[in-house]
Amino acid sequence: MIAFKILIGCAWCLAFGYVGGCLAARKGYSPHEAVLYTIIFGPFALAVYALLPMTEAGREQAEVERQIARDSMHRDRLKSCPNCGREVAFTCRICPRCEHRFVPNVME
Ligand SMILES: [Zn+2]
Repeated sequence: MIAFKILIGCAWCLAFGYVGGCLAARKGYSPHEAVLYTIIFGPFALAVYALLPMTEAGREQAEVERQIARDSMHRDRLKSCPNCGREVAFTCRICPRCEHRFVPNVME
């Protein structure tokens, strides 16, 4: 019974550690430190990481994620080739029919 309780305790610590690591990584802090602190201090460390402001690296990461989300929205859309009029995928760079080169990084 004691072993079972220790096992449950460890599982809780690891779960907290995992959540803390994810939270810290999202905000741009070291996930390894966060896992350690969260395992030691539990919900208290989790609350501290939840209240900490985002670092510069965290903001950059969030911007990259927003950019990826925006790009994936365009992925299913079509554009027409100005040279031959063929409908091609929005992310296409060279027309498969006439080999017209589209201007890169024009998303709108
Ligand atoms: Zn074309």
